[in-house]
Amino acid sequence: MRRAVCPGSFDPITNGHLDIIVRASRLFDEVVVAVGINKTKATLFTIDERMDFIRQAVRSHPDSPTNVIVDTSHGLLVDFCRVRGVQSIVKGLRAVSDFDYELQMAQMNNSLAGVETLFMSTNPQYAFLSSSLVKEVARYGGDVSGLVPDIVLKGLRDRSAS
Ligand code: ADP
Repeated sequence: MRRAVCPGSFDPITNGHLDIIVRASRLFDEVVVAVGINKTKATLFTIDERMDFIRQAVRSHPDSPTNVIVDTSHGLLVDFCRVRGVQSIVKGLRAVSDFDYELQMAQMNNSLAGVETLFMSTNPQYAFLSSSLVKEVARYGGDVSGLVPDIVLKGLRDRSAS
């Protein structure tokens, strides 16, 4: 089975992430979305909330792919790949500024475990989009509808109302 992993913090998932996940699901038998657990990084949403948002966003997408699964990962991504039988990492590239770091990581992961990284160009519609920017705009009452799945929009509204 050809399996790929889409790793990230997904705090929260944006339409940019979702676009990459759904496009990857057309190329692989199975796509595992690996939500990273990093105890040193403060997040707005809990791991369960982030996973639930991803599952619901994938389900509500017009393609509604059935070959996407959501899991957690901690430690090295290549260890996750080994345990889960994943051969490829799929990353979205937004701009040249993403490239240096992503290239370095791809080369490290390949030298550690022979895992391949495939870069997918971001849908230009979402090239400016990041989870941190979405959180900042939402925090100050800006409209992020159209940039995040509906379930995330609701989550952000609930969070700022509390
Ligand atoms: P990290 O935890 O590495 O900061 P994120 O959760 O923000 O990562 O994003 C995970 C991955 O999703 C990124 O490494 C990138 O490959 C991809 N990504 C993030 N934002 C976008 C976007 N707007 N369009 C396409 N891909 C994106």
